[in-house]
Formats: sequence, C-alpha cells, structure tokens
Amino acid sequence: MDCLFCKIVAGEIPSTKVYEDDRILAFRDINPQAPTHILVIPKMHIGGADEVTADNAAVVAHIFATVPQIAKAEGLTDYRVLTNNGADAGQTVRHLHFHILGGRVLGAMG
Ligand code: AMP
Ligand code: ZN
Repeated sequence: MDCLFCKIVAGEIPSTKVYEDDRILAFRDINPQAPTHILVIPKMHIGGADEVTADNAAVVAHIFATVPQIAKAEGLTDYRVLTNNGADAGQTVRHLHFHILGGRVLGAMG
C-alpha cells in the first residue's frame, strides 16, 4: 500500500522515533507546529478516525494509554492531543495519527 506512515513503520522512510512498541510508534513531526510536536500512530494501517471500529479500537485505547508517558518524557504537563479526519479537517496523511502538541500556550481550536 502506498502509505507514508506504513513506510515509516516499515523503516523505508526515516523518522525520529520517541516511543515504539509492538503495536504503536511515536515520532517527531517533520513540520512542527509547537516546540514539541509528536505523531502517535498504530503500526497497523487504519485510514483515519472514520475507520476505527470495535475490532481495531484496542490499539486506539493503547495509544491513549501511552500518551501520558510520551508527554511526561518530553517534559510536558499541558498539551493537546488531536486527530484530523478527512481533507476538510486538515488530514493530509491517510493513516490514523494523533498529534501531541505542547511546549507553548496553544490557541483556541479553529
Ligand atoms: P495531518 O495534516 O493531520 O494529516 O498530519 C500529518 C502530519 O504529518 C503533518 O503535521 C506533517 O507535518 C507530518 N508529516 C508528513 N510527512 C512526515 C514525515 N516524513 N515525518 C514526520 N512527519 C511527517
Ligand atoms: Zn498506513
């Protein structure tokens, strides 16, 4: 499948990893929007929030269970976790990913 983040999981495209286990990977965003900007992804291909189902939701729960330790390792206490679903919402990579943003005062959601 021609998916950028699947290629990052496979090691075909380099990334700056900050966390990895058997099911998920976290790496630094290449175009950071805050002093800390990390993407957390499932290793399995899920296109976006609209492809989360009862059958694959456990990996999403695992991502959220891991976000606090990723944030803590970055020294963050205050941060935003978000996902964009669909082009109009700003999704540019069609592989589910959660942004962790922090390190500055974050503005209102738009
Ligand atoms: P979104 O716009 O919500 O789909 O988020 C996609 C994010 O992936 C953007 O913030 C991009 O800067 C980031 N991105 C794109 N290519 C790479 C890459 N090769 N390594 C790390 N982050 C990337
Ligand atoms: Zn993928």
